[in-house]
Amino acid sequence: MPDKAVEIGIIGAGAAGLGIAWQLALRGHPPVVFEANQPGSGAMTASGGMLSPAYEAEYEELPLLHAMMQSREMYRHWAAQLGDIGYAESGTYELAILPEDVPYVQRRVAFEQAQGLKVEWLEGQNLRKRLPMLSPRIQGGSYAPDEGHVIPELLRDRLVEAIHHAGGTILTQTPVSLIEPLGTGFRLHTPRGTYTAQRLLVCTGVPLGGLELPFKVYPIRGQMLAIENPSPEWLPAPVRYFNKLAGYGYAVPKRGYIILGGTVEEKGIDFSLTFGGVLDILRRAYHVFPDLYERRILRFWAGLRPATASRLPLLYQSPDASLYFVNGLYRNGILLLPLIGEGVAEWISRGTLPQVLQPFWVRELPQVRDTV
Ligand SMILES: Cc1cc2nc3c(=O)[nH]c(=O)nc-3n(C[C@H](O)[C@H](O)[C@H](O)COP(=O)(O)OP(=O)(O)OC[C@H]3O[C@@H](n4cnc5c(N)ncnc54)[C@H](O)[C@@H]3O)c2cc1C
Repeated sequence: MPDKAVEIGIIGAGAAGLGIAWQLALRGHPPVVFEANQPGSGAMTASGGMLSPAYEAEYEELPLLHAMMQSREMYRHWAAQLGDIGYAESGTYELAILPEDVPYVQRRVAFEQAQGLKVEWLEGQNLRKRLPMLSPRIQGGSYAPDEGHVIPELLRDRLVEAIHHAGGTILTQTPVSLIEPLGTGFRLHTPRGTYTAQRLLVCTGVPLGGLELPFKVYPIRGQMLAIENPSPEWLPAPVRYFNKLAGYGYAVPKRGYIILGGTVEEKGIDFSLTFGGVLDILRRAYHVFPDLYERRILRFWAGLRPATASRLPLLYQSPDASLYFVNGLYRNGILLLPLIGEGVAEWISRGTLPQVLQPFWVRELPQVRDTV
């Protein structure tokens, strides 16, 4: 059978692939997206959907923080365009569980304020006026009013609709097992036959279906639980909590349930839930929300965050601008989705990558390092 020909092919209908596909279609280049399973079935819908630049960036990650801040600002417009994605401008809290955790959280507040983020410190009493369900042991915490969250499944659904509406195509259950470079373009091998693409964007996150990428993607497992919500208003905003010995965790309110997360483990491609992982999540949450003790667990799952060796996003363009890799969105792919979607679509369609994404443009693909 002859190859089916497409102008722009995208491998992977996850956060990156869906966002970029929609924006390419809006720019007059409706792509064909090849998805191994169902759209969003990778890290995207395993995620908590938090839009939280203040609490995500590490001290040494300023370019990432600036990218996250810009993408966060784009969300309101994206939500208005897409429809119901469960977008909430709720703010986010970060709590210090014990007295020794206060300096850690306060140091972060100083760092975040120095970067221009709106963040305030609240003593325990003031905090409990806003969040009366908190354990009396909570010492205090910070509040970042500009943060928010979305419901990843709704975001996925709206993006799929928007892509179809703008003329794009998504081929589900179509894993690409091999990318064969041709003189011009690429041949993609799938169980549905072979396709040729003049230009190709690879955004598989952790690659499945036997596909080998020319660089290493580290799967960083996150175990998660959905627990019954005591009432719709019980938890008004995502809450992160930190203790030096117990580690950190978070609770994110959704419609009818609360997500408790999330472990950060480098274990290869392994979607298991473990005794220790679930224990850690529940123990940390119990320190903060003792009232959840009697609540039913509704669901549990594990997802794999796609990380590079540097733990930073990776954007690659071949010298002839026919092949692109977008990967390494790690813990922040939902937050970064609007910026990556618009920025990479501009790069592919007009040849310019926005300034704020340039620090992640790698001219050479990273070498593989040993891993567990
Ligand atoms: C537990 C957890 C919690 C998270 N919480 C948050 C959060 O609160 N906020 C936030 O911003 N981010 C969060 N993230 C991170 C976010 O989910 C990821 O950064 C993002 O989904 C990565 O997008 P991606 O498109 O690169 O990969 P994915 O979303 O994983 O999508 C990749 C897609 O490619 C497909 N694919 C793979 N191989 C092939 C192949 N050979 N052929 C065809 N298709 C293929 C997969 O099936 C998948 O659908 C979380 C992640 C996890 C796991």
